[in-house]
Amino acid sequence: MKIFHLSAECYPLAKVGGLADVVGALPKYQNQLGCDSMVIMPFYNTKYTQNNTFEEVFSGRIHLGSHLVDFQILNLKSDDLGFEVFCVHIPELLYRTDVYCNDDSFRFMAFQVAALDWIKQMQNLPDIIHCHDHHSGIVPFMMSHSFVYERLRYIPSVLTIHNGQYQGWTGMETASLIPHFKADRLGFLIWRNMINPLASAIKCAWKVTTVSPSYMQELMYKANGLEDLLRHESAKCVGILNGIDTSVWNPKDDGNLMKTYTARTSASGKQANKEFLCKEFNLNPEKPLVAFIGRLVGEKAADLLPYACDFGLETTDANILILGSGDPQVEYQLNALKEKHHGRYNAFIGYDEKLSHLIYAGADFLLMPSRVEPCGLNQMYALRYGTVPVVNRVGGLKDTVVDFSLEHGFGVTFDNASVADIVNAIQRCMYFYSEEKRFKANQKTMMGIDHSWDKSAQDYLDLYTSLKQN
Ligand code: ADP
Repeated sequence: MKIFHLSAECYPLAKVGGLADVVGALPKYQNQLGCDSMVIMPFYNTKYTQNNTFEEVFSGRIHLGSHLVDFQILNLKSDDLGFEVFCVHIPELLYRTDVYCNDDSFRFMAFQVAALDWIKQMQNLPDIIHCHDHHSGIVPFMMSHSFVYERLRYIPSVLTIHNGQYQGWTGMETASLIPHFKADRLGFLIWRNMINPLASAIKCAWKVTTVSPSYMQELMYKANGLEDLLRHESAKCVGILNGIDTSVWNPKDDGNLMKTYTARTSASGKQANKEFLCKEFNLNPEKPLVAFIGRLVGEKAADLLPYACDFGLETTDANILILGSGDPQVEYQLNALKEKHHGRYNAFIGYDEKLSHLIYAGADFLLMPSRVEPCGLNQMYALRYGTVPVVNRVGGLKDTVVDFSLEHGFGVTFDNASVADIVNAIQRCMYFYSEEKRFKANQKTMMGIDHSWDKSAQDYLDLYTSLKQN
């Protein structure tokens, strides 16, 4: 089965968050199941694209309203990823160091039209076109309604919602950029008086998936304005839990670590990484280390972190380490805490992939107080590295973490994104940590939990097969 994934991000070419990790792994696991799965994404100016070779396989010219835009399709010349990557190269629009900018409606429209123009002339058309988030949300509409893409009309399209908060809203004038379609189809693009690419994809895709079952249920009641639409389309909606790429995220041979380890050697391996981290960040390796990794935004409840860290440090013995960037006010507050809790708290404001691996390995606890978490990968990485996830029970966090007070439990959970709940959870972490024997045994248990892509990749394949049979 030939599958095209259309996405704004794909690890390791360009990553802002979990979307990149998923699109950078799912095709590889689909290929292991015998598919021919590949990625189409914009060609950005990133370290990876600078340091790798690409070959032009197609060139064309698209009309975006009155604009004429030339594009090339570049094929990544590497076998390392386990799947093929094709990049849409439009230097003036897409070749930037940032994935997301303030003219994204136009940029991603150009990306989508160019991608479909390339696909439509192929001799072997794909069996499935799989769109990820709103950046490729107009594709299902164009496949169904634009005259120039008539050839693609019977190819099933799938939308995966990685994050329903962002929908790509844009003004009505954007409709004029879309290749010609009947005027009475305009309604498929619109939701609440705006062109809404995510809503359009929910209406037009053959199937809609989200990245965890609980997130799908939550979206029916809380989806940043799309609740009614999702309830209306619920018959074609399904939640499939993300997996993690266990070849990239593996403490056994992770080149980013100070010391690699397995479940058997987890105690000494984790301690060596913790000591290195603590030295780097002036923390005490004898104390329990609670870490946070992520975007400093409201969805992750980052605004609560400065207060929760402050009270948590005042009321417990914990050390706390933060890695993240985002809201400047939160960044400022997190930096300001360094002085007050010198030697017990530190924060690295920025994005650092290597450091994130080290923290998953060296921390004892990974805090995720998210208000919204469609799937969440961090808690699965934490488990894989023997680090206790400490999570607010929403979305995928609810589906993957069981509190240590329950039968077969291994994590720490709470029920509200509030300062009081986070501080209480940190206090419970200290209690868990003090039960040394159980805590160490739990590290091994967590490392044995299987969140690899194998099952989810099969679930997606079953879904595609059901569409092909219709
Ligand atoms: P989201 O996509 O909402 O940001 P996910 O949990 O799905 O959240 O994925 C987050 C991914 O981004 C993880 O791989 C995490 O390690 C990584 N990440 C987030 N912030 C940083 C950072 N500042 N430095 C390094 N990696 C980060």
